[in-house]
Amino acid sequence: MTENNTIWAHSPAKTEVADDVIFVDLLRCTGCWTCSLSCMTGNGLKDGQYFVNVRTLGSGEGIDRPAGVWPDLHMSWMPYYTHNCIKCKPRTDAGELPYCVKNCPNKALAYGADAVEKIEAARARGARIYQLPAWEHSKEGIIYASPDREII
Ligand code: SF4
Ligand code: SF4
Repeated sequence: MTENNTIWAHSPAKTEVADDVIFVDLLRCTGCWTCSLSCMTGNGLKDGQYFVNVRTLGSGEGIDRPAGVWPDLHMSWMPYYTHNCIKCKPRTDAGELPYCVKNCPNKALAYGADAVEKIEAARARGARIYQLPAWEHSKEGIIYASPDREII
């Protein structure tokens, strides 16, 4: 069993990052769902069919309910890429960005060489760099940076 098949989130080294990587900077994500909706529209998916959906972290129940007790409330988000995601291959083969990456209004997403650069910049600034563990069954080659450092 390789390390990234464990129950733990795997922290990939630079040499493990593939050319078609998608980088998700959790410090920048505001949970707007533009990534999901632009994928749905661009790829002609049915209404409510998501190749990427957005989780609210730290929330007890439902979307966008903050965790904590007033006045110490907090909320954060995580785009989750399903196995159905095709990484917009027809677009990237033509030199275009995936719909989700192109349309994220907060530059929380990056693809390819830009993603590799941003991953290393985030790592250098103290972010934890990780992939979801195998039991999450998410799309492979999606790498996250934790939000605990200065914005890049
Ligand atoms: S990744 Fe970008 S588009 Fe998707 S929810 Fe976060 S901020 Fe919005
Ligand atoms: S990479 Fe393309 S197919 Fe995958 S979630 Fe983003 S827009 Fe959808």
